[in-house]
Amino acid sequence: MATRRILQMEQPDDLLRLKRKSSRVTSFDVELARLVDDMVETMRAADGVGLSAPQVGVLRRAVTMEMPGEYEEREDGAFEEIKPPELFMLVNPEIVKIVDERQPMLEGCLSLPGRYADVPRAPQVTIKYRDVRGKEHRLRATDPLLAQCIQHEIDHLDGVLFTERIEDLTTLRDERRKPKRSRFRRPPREQDAAGEAMLPEARAATG
Ligand SMILES: [Zn+2]
Repeated sequence: MATRRILQMEQPDDLLRLKRKSSRVTSFDVELARLVDDMVETMRAADGVGLSAPQVGVLRRAVTMEMPGEYEEREDGAFEEIKPPELFMLVNPEIVKIVDERQPMLEGCLSLPGRYADVPRAPQVTIKYRDVRGKEHRLRATDPLLAQCIQHEIDHLDGVLFTERIEDLTTLRDERRKPKRSRFRRPPREQDAAGEAMLPEARAATG
């Protein structure tokens, strides 16, 4: 596994690529497995909850996501894992059902670090996708963070960026100068000042 460079919206050449539509995966081969492995490593290294192949410059319909686990503080101050992080590797994901409702949800993107805004997203969505071996699956996402992340990543596959989905620009926030841990995106490791992962604000998806 290796980390790959994440394309940045603020770099004109990168943006052109991010705006292109990705094509469906047709061969479920070693190259695909390597791409997806690298995407998982890149997403984790960047503390993101989601990453799409076009963000690493590959215009193929593949997405990785990792939902944070849940932790509880014990009396001795250590953190106990109540729910493990959940990793998803989706190939050719497609929305098959989406609720009519839209909720403003705080969102960010690894291709625009430190900037967050409310984006209207459906809190529930059902998708079908293939795994890296080509087997078809169906997933009903009822966790709003997961549903939000799926919509953000599928948008990437269509060349749509979250900045284009912002309806209320007054919600746009620049957190680049603030300490990184205030935007904690991944499950706390024991030595971290955890807990922040449980704050609703810290649940803003960064994909
Ligand atoms: Zn993104």
